[in-house]
Amino acid sequence: MAAKGWFILKLLMFQGLFISRPQEDFDFFYFVLQWPGASCDTNRPCCYPTSGKPAADFGIHGLWPNYNDGSFPSNCNPDSQFDRSQISDLVSSLKQNWPTLACPSNEGFKFWEHEWEKHGTCSESVMDQHEYFENALKLKDKADLLQILTNSGINPDDGFYNLKKISNAIEDAIGFTPGIECNKDSERNNQLDQIYICVDTSGTEFIECPVLPRGRCPTRVQFPKF
Ligand code: 5GP
Ligand code: 5GP
Repeated sequence: MAAKGWFILKLLMFQGLFISRPQEDFDFFYFVLQWPGASCDTNRPCCYPTSGKPAADFGIHGLWPNYNDGSFPSNCNPDSQFDRSQISDLVSSLKQNWPTLACPSNEGFKFWEHEWEKHGTCSESVMDQHEYFENALKLKDKADLLQILTNSGINPDDGFYNLKKISNAIEDAIGFTPGIECNKDSERNNQLDQIYICVDTSGTEFIECPVLPRGRCPTRVQFPKF
């Protein structure tokens, strides 16, 4: 190839390095876990995945890029469609740790596809599809929320617990304050629904939240059975 051709080729490769890895365009992630006992109750009918009733454990809802002012990007790249062949090695772990509770019952791919397309495509500057799901699974391993809570005497037994006690138990274990979100059951009891933990832009390290989600929890909340 002529010298000029080589030069142009190298220039394109050099540019490609930067084009494929631009500066991240978000400030941090929310790693969001859902308690199935609050996702499924008489107020909110749910369906178990085709593989059966999920474990009585927090399940992943998503890993959501966010801005420091509380706003967030979504559906950032319609060209980057969910491709199940890229995560085939993770499927059994996803079924266990990221179960879907939507109706009608399905395997979970719809939930994962939705989360990838709505949120994952907004962090493609730092991780591809496989890394997105792998990082979420690793984060769940790092923070075993159910174990953390039960170690502090906070059990999913329909009992009412002090919100601050729940938050402190998690903070003592992971070093950072979580966001806690509640919803209401059919008797209008406020119950523990989702827990948010903030994660740095690499998607691997917990951080203090730049902004906490509005949680709608009173001082005492029910931890429903599942
Ligand atoms: P909801 O209105 O039920 O709180 O949230 C609906 C959906 O909007 C969530 O499942 C999530 O996809 C998105 N969402 C809500 N709040 C936030 C937020 O603070 N940050 C991000 N990144 N997404 C959010
Ligand atoms: P969001 O936009 O709220 O992050 O995602 C919620 C979407 O995922 C809804 O369309 C919902 O039907 C679907 N979905 C599937 N399985 C689940 C689940 O287990 N929990 C929640 N919150 N949404 C689910």
